Amino acid sequence: MHKNVERVLIPRDQIDVRVRELAAQIANDFRDESGGDEPPELTIVSILTGSLIFLADLIRNMPLMLRLRMITVRSYPGKSMTSQPAEIEGRLPDDLTGQHVLIVDDILDSGQTITLVRDLLAERNPASVRTVMFLRKDTEPARETHVEYVGFDVPDEFVVGYGLDFDGYYRNLPDVVTLKREALK
Ligand code: 5GP
Ligand code: MG
Repeated sequence: MHKNVERVLIPRDQIDVRVRELAAQIANDFRDESGGDEPPELTIVSILTGSLIFLADLIRNMPLMLRLRMITVRSYPGKSMTSQPAEIEGRLPDDLTGQHVLIVDDILDSGQTITLVRDLLAERNPASVRTVMFLRKDTEPARETHVEYVGFDVPDEFVVGYGLDFDGYYRNLPDVVTLKREALK
């Protein structure tokens, strides 16, 4: 275990099982919607960088025709550990007319990021927009933000690993963990 890890909240084998489950559930929901014919194509809009590892595992377990679009939203710059106003960096897809969109993000906290992205994508005329979050924090705004799919609920603590960072580090840890106080400086 990495020397700065305080506690493992979600071990890698649990993540693996849950991500496969989510992928199957999402793929089934899309198939059901199409009434037994060919499932509709999916446009995935993934929010960098935190969702990267989740995205890679999720889509490899989704047997659908899909395309990826990546966007960047800044809300926790550098070492800040509380939510800041969210801002989009780079361009969103201009036109999503008739497309089924799945937003993939790492963690739902204040809900600002996902609300911003969802509203901006909804303006682009998609056939549907759904959201899958790897984690949801136990905070009031998170509970009040509607998302269709959630991997795990976690306590209101700062977590890293499986794509989530502190100051750019720890994204490569395979488990979701909390860090020792002295590492959060
Ligand atoms: P929201 O806009 O919902 O407040 O924040 C979501 C974003 O804040 C996430 O995409 C993530 O980048 C960051 N964030 C929120 N909570 C945590 C956390 O516990 N750990 C890390 N590493 N990032 C977090
Ligand atoms: Mg993020």
